[in-house]
Amino acid sequence: KNIVIAIDGYSSCGKSTIAKALAKKLHFIYIDSGAMYRAVTLYFLRNNVDLNDHDAVTSALKNVHLNFHSRDYQSHITLNDEEVSEEIRQMPVSELVSDVSTLREVRVEMVRQQQRMGKSKNIIMDGRDIGTVVFPDADLKLFMTADPKVRAERRFKELMLKGEDVTMEEVFDNLAHRDYLDTTREESPLVRADDAIILDNTTIDQAQQLDFALARILP
Ligand code: C5P
Repeated sequence: KNIVIAIDGYSSCGKSTIAKALAKKLHFIYIDSGAMYRAVTLYFLRNNVDLNDHDAVTSALKNVHLNFHSRDYQSHITLNDEEVSEEIRQMPVSELVSDVSTLREVRVEMVRQQQRMGKSKNIIMDGRDIGTVVFPDADLKLFMTADPKVRAERRFKELMLKGEDVTMEEVFDNLAHRDYLDTTREESPLVRADDAIILDNTTIDQAQQLDFALARILP
């Protein structure tokens, strides 16, 4: 049987960093489920989809075709064959994505696609509901946390390096707002699965995180 590793946690806790490092080490496929919600959000933004109109959401979803392309263990996503990996990280998408993610129609479709990807291949998927909803039987589940200030600083630095025009306060508020929506929404809220191992990366570096995870995967 193929192996599935699920990594969940709050926004900007370093989930994708550890997921990519593990994928590289184990030669697994890395899937960033957040990128899928972000790409749907980008499509909704561009097409002015009214989030309160269920029929509009359902029919818009039919026009959203997502694909992952793995290059050097970095994951690239296309939306209707257009490379959108950069654009989905920008603030307009970050500001709306957690609202889009509360929609049941959107979640049902994303979960369906995610489960299909984990059917036959060894994968590492990160997100909010991977160990609880998408792969409740995952072989390993990690739940990542980190101090909110440390998370905001890391994300702020990343966005600055990309030349984004944001303030530290905006980044901090965005993370807090997304965490609030993600943990309080009705549809598959962010919670730790009972069998998920907690990994707090406030003070430990990337090499230590990788060792921590590998020690639990490779006996
Ligand atoms: O992982 P990332 O921060 O890029 O995800 C963006 C947003 O997508 C999250 O804040 C959350 O609202 C939503 N999301 C989700 N379920 C997932 C992955 C992401 O609801 N499995």
